[in-house]
Amino acid sequence: MSSLLIKNITIVNSDYSFKANVLFEDGRVLQISDKPIESNAKVYDGTEKYLIPAGIDPHVHLALPTPAGPSCDDFEMGSKAAIAGGTGALIDFVTPKRGQSLIEATKERQKETEASEIPVKLHVGITWWDDSLDAEIESLFKDYGIKTFKVYMAYLDNIGLEVPQMHKAMKSIAKHGGMMALHAELGIEIMKLHYEFRQKDRLAAFNHPWTRPANVEFEAVQKALMLVEFTKCPTYFVHISTAESVQMIREAKAKGLPVFAETCPQYLLLDDEKYNGPFSQVAPFIMSPPLRRKEDQEALWEGLKDGTIDTISTDHCPFTMKQKSAGINDFTKIPNGVGGIYHRMGLIYTYGVLENRISLNEWIKLCSSNAAEIFDFENYGKIEEGEDAPVFIWDPEPEEVIGDSQPFSNADTNVYKGLKIKGKAINISEL
Ligand SMILES: [Zn+2]
Repeated sequence: MSSLLIKNITIVNSDYSFKANVLFEDGRVLQISDKPIESNAKVYDGTEKYLIPAGIDPHVHLALPTPAGPSCDDFEMGSKAAIAGGTGALIDFVTPKRGQSLIEATKERQKETEASEIPVKLHVGITWWDDSLDAEIESLFKDYGIKTFKVYMAYLDNIGLEVPQMHKAMKSIAKHGGMMALHAELGIEIMKLHYEFRQKDRLAAFNHPWTRPANVEFEAVQKALMLVEFTKCPTYFVHISTAESVQMIREAKAKGLPVFAETCPQYLLLDDEKYNGPFSQVAPFIMSPPLRRKEDQEALWEGLKDGTIDTISTDHCPFTMKQKSAGINDFTKIPNGVGGIYHRMGLIYTYGVLENRISLNEWIKLCSSNAAEIFDFENYGKIEEGEDAPVFIWDPEPEEVIGDSQPFSNADTNVYKGLKIKGKAINISEL
């Protein structure tokens, strides 16, 4: 595409929408006008369509190493799913081995991200702690463009941090001007419950959510908020799933604490009834935190509406049924995760905007602009003259019913199967 004139389209930014003619040159927005634009460019009729800033999915796990093999989509596949679904940037993770230099692990992971067709940033996991990591955090922040550091309160046996270590990590992150991304689930409680369930031989897949009840999340959020108060470390709570957590984060924000929160389509649209059934039915829904009650979904939508929750990510981390089968006799061995990069924009448009839970502008704010601001994606999240912001056309008309498999994914199940999606992204570079 060299130059393109889109006529009569509705531009949707996070704060306002308006109808305009838009002239692009080499992907750059050259002119936006409510008057006719004179140009020899190829013309596209945008009537009844939206022009939106590209989505940002700030939490994905492509080719994540696990004992059941890597999550089944790599960076090339994940980025194709993003482009097809209206997303123009991703944030994935570096998961250093314990004892491994964070910088070495980051360099290795940055190489893997080169297979992506869109920009990818990385949250760097702090999976162990000694005071030598303070200098590494400083260097990652200054020399490698890393802003966010991921801490897991769960998974204490391999990547999680105990609270005293987490406190040290937070002090270091705050000192260097970074931000912590936090998986808030109490690891000790989960280990106790896993032990109890194993003693009672309760190892079928449907037991998974009972070992990660709501309090395991919101008590972790509560502990973390106390540490935020002590350290002033800016903290981004990933995949928040319970009503109680939403309320605690709402109160923390009201007190002026530097906190941000994220949820995912699976927690907004699916509930714990999915955990009734045999392995083949339940395994695709095994994720952490697990799906919650319908009441929690309502609280999450309210949190999105009132600004308590800032972003919607997918936590995209799909596995094939063959991989999930590693835990057929022991749910603790089922690799955790579901897919969603391709569906995210469409799901939130359909079940958020079209069901009047959020506005069109809030859709953009939650799926693009807020993430652009929190994670420093320059040019993303808004459509303005003179910017080379990545954009998509959103056609609100097409309808599809989600099937068994996931488009642009190697996964062979789809947790959103049967849901109807209205609207589809159009990639302007293909016009
Ligand atoms: Zn995750």
